[in-house]
Amino acid sequence: MCEQCKITRISGEPLPAGEDPIPCEYPAEPDEDEEECLEEARYLVSDYSCQDHLCEEHMREKSDQLESGLGDFLRSAGFQAASDFAPIQETAECDYVAPEAMLTVPAVPPCGKAANYAELILERLALCPRHAKAWGYACEP
Ligand SMILES: [Zn+2]
Ligand SMILES: [Zn+2]
Ligand SMILES: [Zn+2]
Repeated sequence: MCEQCKITRISGEPLPAGEDPIPCEYPAEPDEDEEECLEEARYLVSDYSCQDHLCEEHMREKSDQLESGLGDFLRSAGFQAASDFAPIQETAECDYVAPEAMLTVPAVPPCGKAANYAELILERLALCPRHAKAWGYACEP
């Protein structure tokens, strides 16, 4: 938990009317009793939040990965940046696990060094009014 974790940056906009309806993309939690939502999405809601904490070394490694492969793909798809790194003051441990180690059993523990950076991830979902509210976006009724 760092200071970036405590900031919520939820923003949203109504989807343009008159286009083909898209279903609500609210992720159904397997451990909750909630079924997949069948409502029509009415808002495009963005959440820009802290995903991982990284030490200096791993921040560089991740930003290099984004520079090379995935970053290009995302930029060509019209995204500004999928993730961003913000310096943090509060104590957090580095959450970095090498991509090739993610599927290893038993799981490889994360780096665990003192983290100096927060990785901020932008998530964007098309949501029905009920789920837009549930996600924290104060939409018009
Ligand atoms: Zn954080
Ligand atoms: Zn690390
Ligand atoms: Zn919904």
